This record gives sequence, C-alpha cells and structure tokens, in this order.
Amino acid sequence: MGGALSLLAVNFVIAQIFAAAFLVIAAKRRPGRPAAWCAAGFAIASLAAICEAVLPFTPVPKLFAVGAFASVLAGFCLLRFGLGLFYGVPSKPWALAAFFAASVILDLFIYDLPRGTLRHAFFYQAPFFLIQAWTAAAVIRSRRRSYADWILIGFLAMNALHFLVKIYAAVAAGAGATASDYLQSPFALISQAFGAALIVGTGVAMLGVMVKDIIDKARASSETDALSGLLNRRGFIERVAPLLPTRNAEGPGALILTDLDRFKGVNDTYGHHTGDEVIRQFARVLLELMPSRAAAARLGGEEFAVFLPGVGLSDARVVAQGMRAATASTPIPGLPETATITASFGVAAIEPGEPLETALQRADKALYAAKAAGRNRVESAEPSARVVTPAVSQWIKRKL
Ligand code: GH3
Ligand code: MG
Ligand code: MG
Repeated sequence: MGGALSLLAVNFVIAQIFAAAFLVIAAKRRPGRPAAWCAAGFAIASLAAICEAVLPFTPVPKLFAVGAFASVLAGFCLLRFGLGLFYGVPSKPWALAAFFAASVILDLFIYDLPRGTLRHAFFYQAPFFLIQAWTAAAVIRSRRRSYADWILIGFLAMNALHFLVKIYAAVAAGAGATASDYLQSPFALISQAFGAALIVGTGVAMLGVMVKDIIDKARASSETDALSGLLNRRGFIERVAPLLPTRNAEGPGALILTDLDRFKGVNDTYGHHTGDEVIRQFARVLLELMPSRAAAARLGGEEFAVFLPGVGLSDARVVAQGMRAATASTPIPGLPETATITASFGVAAIEPGEPLETALQRADKALYAAKAAGRNRVESAEPSARVVTPAVSQWIKRKL
C-alpha cells in the first residue's frame, strides 16, 4: 500500500472514531444535538477517503473526485453547524447549504483546469479555508474563553491556514497530472499527513470543550438547589470557605442564617405546593436584597444562609433587617392576603481565621435566640470564645 493510501486509511479510521465519540456524547447529554451534528460531520468527511481510494480504478473519476471534495466540505459544514449550536452562534442552514452548493459547482468547473496550477489549487482549497475560518470566527464570536475554547480556536485557525499553505504546496510539490494520479503524487503524502495531524488535534479539542461543558454543568447542578435556584449546602461551602482567609479591613465578612417561621403550619394549611412557592419567593427576596458579591444558599428544608464578603456585623444586621421586612410584606401566590410569611435571622461576623463551620454554628445560635424571642426578628451572634477582642484584652490587663 502506498504511503498516501495508508494515511488515507488512517484518516478514515480516525474520523470514524471521532464520529463514534461524538455519538456517545450526543446520547449522554441532553440535548445532544450539537454533538450529533459533529458526529455526522466526521462520518461524512470520512467518505472522502473511500472516494480517493476508488479514484485510480474507476471509469468515472470525475464523480469520485468531486465526491471526495464534497464529502470533506459537507463534513466541515456539519461541524460548523454543530459547533455553532454548541457555542450559541448558530449558522443559518440555508447559508451553509448555499455555500456548499456553490463550492461543489465551482469544483465541477475547475475539474478540467490543469492541475498543479495556482488557479486550480486556489479554487480547490479556498472553500476549505473559508469554512474553517467561518467556524473559528463563530467560536471567537461566542466569547467563551476557557483554555479548552482557546485550544479549539487555535486548531480551527491552523486548519484554515493549512488550506492556504496547501495552495502553494500543491503547486510546488505537484498534485498529479489527473485526479486519478493524486494518490501517487508527493503532494498527497504531505496533504494526508497534515490532514491526519489536524483532524486529531481539532477532534480532540472539540471533544475537550464538550466534555468540559458536561463536567461544568454536572458540577454546577450538584452545587445548586433545584427548588430555589440558590446554592445548596455543598455549593455554599465550596464557594465561601476559600474566601475566608482573605485579609480585609472589615474581616472576612458576615453570615446571615435564616429560617422561615412556623413553616410546617403553611404546609399543613395551604399544601406542600404553596409551601414550595413560599420557599421560591423567599429565595428571591434574599437574592434581591443581598449585595452583588454575596452568596446565598438553601442549606436544607426552609433554612437559608447568606455570606456577605468584607461586611461587618452592623451592616450585616441592616441587610438582614431589610430581608426580614421584605419577607413579611411580599405577597405569595396561592396564599390569602391576610396570611403573612415571616422569617427569623441570626447574624454572625466571621472572625479572622475562624472556620466556616464554627461561624455557621454561632449564627445558628443567634437564629435560635431569634426564634426563642418570638420569631420575625434579627439576633446577633456572640463573638467566638477563642478570639480575644481588644475590649476583652484591656479588661484582662486591668484585672492583672
Ligand atoms: P419554626 O418557626 O420553629 O422554624 O417552625 P417550623 O414549622 O418552620 O419548623 P419545623 O422544623 O417544625 O418545620 C419545618 C417544615 O418545613 C417541615 C417540612 O415539612 C417543611 N419542609 C422542608 N422542606 C420543604 C420543602 O422542600 N418544601 C415544602 N413545601 N416544605 C418543606
Ligand atoms: Mg422554620
Ligand atoms: Mg428549619
């Protein structure tokens, strides 16, 4: 088997492997349409290898030569479509179809031009350059900029450029006197070798962005509470704990712990469904009244926490009072106008070096005190016993 033919076979297998990999992703993710289009793209592009392999032996070389061109271009168009859907910058199907049709007609026209000339090479490679540049531009336009996205942009750009280089390579190295001689030409070897490297790079980069997306989404949903849309306990700890060691003039920040009052009664009287609506509305109140850099979570049941970074106790109390007042005055769909929902609040200033769990326990004690004092109130936590405040240290000095 000739070198170029071997590489053709390798490219065919690689494209099939990627088609299978994207099919697996399409089956796993919901909705899996972008991955399904990419799978179709790789599968159709791989047909070019069959056309090229048949070319030297067929009495209708034009059909298979144009077939090879059309398969690769159709595959690239499908990849553009799939990636467009994935990145939220969809291309118009008619625009892609028109581009594809015009390019195939152009390829039919140039078929009889002398091969190895700049004119033939230019018109042959230009559509491949354009579709790859169009795809790279779509990813750039999406404004997604993780490392994986940058790598994909890099490969798409290299793909586009390599088709420009091929124009000169075809002229310099010679692409065979006729389409049937292509596989024997030195250019075929270069072209298929570069093609193999770029197909693997681009395919892996595409898989990378899609797998990363699946992992990111799974992680976000494992840290989100489905009913309220806030963080759940795990998400809250993951988000807040790393922020506590920061050295801020006001200290690490403050915690507000809050729990709906007599919520069991709401469920018993108006039903669980209305109870759920109360939880949603309460979450909305917390989100609206917390500062933009704060994090809010539903820790469980009808208990919530808000972390206010760089905020002292008195400011945190003001925020909590605002939340308390807004909760009591927010109408809830499904509840009679006379029914009011209230919540109790415990506020704690997190001390430098204090673990999140300890601060939560102190805020919880304050919340318990708010409940014990009649509910619908805000109570502050005692400072942690470990920490000696300036006032206490002066008192100790005076006693000594
Ligand atoms: P307190 O003022 O002392 O906090 O009294 P409470 O009735 O609010 O507290 P209790 O702990 O007795 O009851 C909490 C109720 O919250 C019991 C449970 O059915 C309800 N609950 C927990 N999770 C959900 C939920 O996701 N949806 C609804 N609708 N109710 C929930
Ligand atoms: Mg409660
Ligand atoms: Mg509770």
